[in-house]
Amino acid sequence: MKDRVKYKNIDKSYLDCVHCGKCLSGCPSYVANLNEFYSPRGRVRLILTDDADKLPLRAPKVSETMSSCLLCGRCVKICPNGVKIDKLIIDEKIRLNELTGHVFSIDKFALKALKNKRKVLLKSALEIGNIPIIEKLSRRYAPKPEGKSFISNKDLAFNAIFPINESLGKNVFKVGYFSGCVFNSIYPQISVDTIISLTQNGIDVFVPKTQGCCGLPFISSGDIKSFRELALNNVRAFKDKEIHYIVTSCASCAYSINKLYPLYFNANEDEYAEIKQFSEKLLNIWSFFKELEKKGVNIKSGELKKETEVVFHAPCHLSNMPEFKPASSNENLIGEAGFIADKINGLKLKPLNHNYCCGNGGMFNIRHYNLSKKITSRKFEEIKEASPQEVLTSCSGCMFSLKDQKGILEGSERLPVRHLISVYAQSLKELKE
Ligand code: SF4
Ligand code: SF4
Repeated sequence: MKDRVKYKNIDKSYLDCVHCGKCLSGCPSYVANLNEFYSPRGRVRLILTDDADKLPLRAPKVSETMSSCLLCGRCVKICPNGVKIDKLIIDEKIRLNELTGHVFSIDKFALKALKNKRKVLLKSALEIGNIPIIEKLSRRYAPKPEGKSFISNKDLAFNAIFPINESLGKNVFKVGYFSGCVFNSIYPQISVDTIISLTQNGIDVFVPKTQGCCGLPFISSGDIKSFRELALNNVRAFKDKEIHYIVTSCASCAYSINKLYPLYFNANEDEYAEIKQFSEKLLNIWSFFKELEKKGVNIKSGELKKETEVVFHAPCHLSNMPEFKPASSNENLIGEAGFIADKINGLKLKPLNHNYCCGNGGMFNIRHYNLSKKITSRKFEEIKEASPQEVLTSCSGCMFSLKDQKGILEGSERLPVRHLISVYAQSLKELKE
């Protein structure tokens, strides 16, 4: 058997796969291809064969199979035998990256741009992408969501439109805010709306300027070294502040920090304790508001001047996280996010029949744009059935994918896509007016 990667807990749960096929119908990449190479069961089978050193296929085919997984976690939720499919796939990518240097999600330049602290590369890439001729050419091969990207050379870009005070006030609850790259650099208003929503509820917010990428694009590319460096950078950015929680408005950042950070550090490493503590302290914004309510805090209601019919696309990295007990019809529809939807008078939530995947899968839609568009088209079929005025969600990746409607809604009006926290912030503002 080959030497496997050096971090802890090489998962062997592929041995528990009984090939029942229950995971197939939930897997977006399988449904779009109807080919076992793109199914959870097929991937598990390949990993098992590879681990036994009996793989008859060449690495590129295995790379393609692993790289076309969106890490949505739907299969993990369905599997009756507890096969940890997403972890197995990440482990396999790490192994192949170490063996061949292959990166899976996006290319090396994009990874470098995300990791660069002064964001010079990211700024240049986004600016070049906005040049009309390049934008036109790239639209065929890569997503181009509506809206201009915003970036400055500061460590934390949205600081330029919303100056951040790093000191904490005297309110009882104090939180740190983790923005993630997209809500920092591309949709900075979502960070602003999150901070406004928190402060309007009497919560002190600490925003460290040295925080960076959560690391998900790196680990899903097989680059464990950069993932661990970024994790430690974030732990240090929030260290030494007396905060009760760290909150994020991005479901994928929450998935990375809550689920993956503790998995890719060894329990006997010096840094493990702080990684685990950081991971446990971080809550997605909806769980945080629910948690506050449990502690007796009255979360404010707002009001929209104009009644709006919406659907909420529950991100895979939110809905495939542990279950909770719904306490209202909105919570029944969209999980913990329904708690905030309940607080917005004038917001009418319509159901989505299946809550299909949006096709983003972290940065999967950059490398596999055509496959991603197929998955996103199915999403828009169910959205069209509900005929909402707006689509809401709460993940940077989902916003990216849902805003990229080129070729999907041809002939119809472009549907506005917003983060639910922005609608909540708007309702607090409109109530006062
Ligand atoms: S549901 Fe689980 S046990 Fe069944 S085929 Fe899929 S991975 Fe294997
Ligand atoms: S994580 Fe999602 S895309 Fe990947 S195998 Fe599982 S269901 Fe399919």
